[in-house]
Amino acid sequence: EEISLVDLMRQTVDNLETQSSLHNIKIQDITCASMVAADRDRMIQVFTNILSNAVKFSPNGGDVNVTLWNQQDSIILSITDQGIGIPKEDISHLFEKFYRFDNSYSRKIGGTGLGLSICQEIIKDHNGRIWIESEENVGTTVFITLPLKQQLPTGPVNLDKPLVNVVEDDVNIA
Ligand code: ATP
Ligand code: MG
Repeated sequence: EEISLVDLMRQTVDNLETQSSLHNIKIQDITCASMVAADRDRMIQVFTNILSNAVKFSPNGGDVNVTLWNQQDSIILSITDQGIGIPKEDISHLFEKFYRFDNSYSRKIGGTGLGLSICQEIIKDHNGRIWIESEENVGTTVFITLPLKQQLPTGPVNLDKPLVNVVEDDVNIA
């Protein structure tokens, strides 16, 4: 199925409950192409887990910034939160099944530890990559890249400057 990742990310953000103004989810779209061949429901599952992680591991609220852009023949997404972050020694284990940090905060918070391993499986099935950068008490960024359906023109692309489709969405979420 051919889907627009930008549209799907917007829908996923809209579908998350918007009950309090603790978290502000912002989407910045600086893509010039976002069509990928993907399973819509599984991709929604990926976005939902990443966004709900960003929210639930940011107990003091803050911004969740989603950015989408292109690089060569792929689309790149980053989801950044201002939450509790992840200890360095744990980052490499995050995609293991049932892995959760053994700190009091993670224990208190619900979850099975399956989300990220499922996300990785889905992204791999779509020939993409997923990785995480994080700093404790600063925040976490999840990166996802997926191959584009169409080829972009080759040659240097200035990523400092938005190409087209600059859209910002603001959604408040509990
Ligand atoms: P589930 O997704 O199955 O409900 P979960 O959210 O605990 O449970 P994962 O999504 O796989 O499981 O995440 C694994 C662990 O990685 C989390 O328990 C948490 O410790 C850590 N983690 C994931 N995302 C973040 C984030 N944005 N900030 C801080 N820690 C995170
Ligand atoms: Mg999760």
